[in-house]
Amino acid sequence: MAQPNDHGHSHHQSPGHHPNPAENPSQGNGASHPAVAIQRQPHHRQHQHRSGSARAFRWSVILNSGLSALQLGIGFGFGSLALIGDAVHNLGDVAGLLLGWGAERLSSRAPNERFTYGFGRSTQLASLANAVLILMASAVVLMEGIKRLGASTEIISTPVAWAAAAGIVVNLFSARLFGHDNSHDLNRRAAVIHLLGDAAVSGAVLVSAIVVGITHWYWLDAATGIAVGLAVAWSGWGLLRDAMQVALDAVPPGIEMAAVDQALRHLPGVLDVHHLHVWGMSTSQIALTAHVVRRPLEVDDMALLHQAKVRLAEIGIAHSTIQLEPPS
Ligand SMILES: [Zn+2]
Ligand SMILES: [Zn+2]
Repeated sequence: MAQPNDHGHSHHQSPGHHPNPAENPSQGNGASHPAVAIQRQPHHRQHQHRSGSARAFRWSVILNSGLSALQLGIGFGFGSLALIGDAVHNLGDVAGLLLGWGAERLSSRAPNERFTYGFGRSTQLASLANAVLILMASAVVLMEGIKRLGASTEIISTPVAWAAAAGIVVNLFSARLFGHDNSHDLNRRAAVIHLLGDAAVSGAVLVSAIVVGITHWYWLDAATGIAVGLAVAWSGWGLLRDAMQVALDAVPPGIEMAAVDQALRHLPGVLDVHHLHVWGMSTSQIALTAHVVRRPLEVDDMALLHQAKVRLAEIGIAHSTIQLEPPS
């Protein structure tokens, strides 16, 4: 654990030393240090996001749970696969919200002696689990849809149309909730776009139910169910791809490896950079390790490490560990 007087020495430590503000509040005055100030931004942003979206989040969970239950009940009761597909998607959204919430709470816990990175990865594990659940559910809907296309199961369309209309209302209302506070936030915008897409899916189910009610083309419900199932599978696939990238320690989006490499190479006295690795420890924390070869007699190592830390923090890498090496 860091000592209280540790601040006085912080310039002389390797750039990998990253004081956790939650862990050691006595270091609050360290914010005057430019590199430390930059490093703290991600934490700060994350907290703002969490508290600002709490209301929208709570309502979204309550409304979507209610909607899913209603749509499942009516979908099974009156035989509409299209509506069941819509309900499956909404259930996936609820699962995603709850898993994301749990993971975010977990990832705000300080690292300990056993989990030295903290729990930032739990958000990625949550989206991986959610992606697998969504893909399994969409497979069930797709298989059922193919089976029903030939059988043309009879459905009672009026309650189905009402439940689909409820889906449109709930999703448009949720989109308003999320869009209200802070429309500049990228996550928030993505959430709004997603919710508008969900309203459109419910709209398709509504149109299909009305057409089936008039024409008694029962196959149309199965066909709409397949289309909805494909849309659900597509979103599940996107989620799985993103989660796998993090699981495989891919360079986080927004980081240019060439720029990182050049930033280190252009520091005074540096001859070579190798074993350069950049990965995401959580959605907001980016880590780096690198071996840096420098001219030992010309370069003040402490100054070099300090400059490296400042440059990397500017790029958005808060947690760096650098090994200095002599030329071979
Ligand atoms: Zn959705
Ligand atoms: Zn090396």
